[in-house]
Amino acid sequence: MKRNMLKDYKEQIQDADLVLVGIGRELRADRVIDFKKAITNEHYQNLIDKEDEDSKWMRTVYEREYLLSMKETDLFKELEEVLEGKEYFVVTSNDDGLLYHTHLKKDHVTAPCGNGDFFQCSAPCDEQLYPANLGLRDLIDYYEKTGKIEYLECPKCGKQLIFNVRTEETKSIYIEGAYLNSWASYTKWLQNTLNKKLFILELGEGFEVPSLFRWPFEKMAFYNEKATFVRVHHSLYQIGKEIKEKGIGIKMDSRDFLNIAHE
Ligand SMILES: [Zn+2]
Repeated sequence: MKRNMLKDYKEQIQDADLVLVGIGRELRADRVIDFKKAITNEHYQNLIDKEDEDSKWMRTVYEREYLLSMKETDLFKELEEVLEGKEYFVVTSNDDGLLYHTHLKKDHVTAPCGNGDFFQCSAPCDEQLYPANLGLRDLIDYYEKTGKIEYLECPKCGKQLIFNVRTEETKSIYIEGAYLNSWASYTKWLQNTLNKKLFILELGEGFEVPSLFRWPFEKMAFYNEKATFVRVHHSLYQIGKEIKEKGIGIKMDSRDFLNIAHE
């Protein structure tokens, strides 16, 4: 039998002591949620085809507000089902906060690149974080009343506020802090994986931030005698020969692997 869907690994996952999951770009919010359909607000709809910087920013404001206020989603249902009753931890390189709106155990998720739930100063003049939801609501209300697109200013220095997320552009100014508690839980959890039957599942991670979990997962698979490693990616699925005995690289879009509908 050809094994190429998550459900084909259910038995193996259920049989493991611990399950470690990494979630990357292929499962980012804008790839699993069609914002153009999901956000029906006419003001947002009118921004869709505009390519100027202001319109792009305003679209992001609507999309981030949508993500922050969304109810629990069943998008990751298949993953939740195979993890049912298991001791697991999930790490993601995405900055959309999406995993916090699934049914996964929130205290077993860490998102070191941010969740979009805070703003920070773009200077930055200090380490202060500002809850994003109020600011986003203000920007939307103002835009819908006046048709004008605004930005938020740092109350301390007047420079622009930006989302507290780690991207290629913001990596040198990204304020760490919001995720540090969950990161501490994660590293503590990892210490317990030694000599355990560990199932490592890496979904849709490319080479944007390989030091976050792509390389560490390979290392863990190599050093842990009882590890099993499954890597899924539409093009970057290859695994090194050192871990060939323990692992498999599946050439597939992670959305298909998890049975998530998309265009
Ligand atoms: Zn500032």
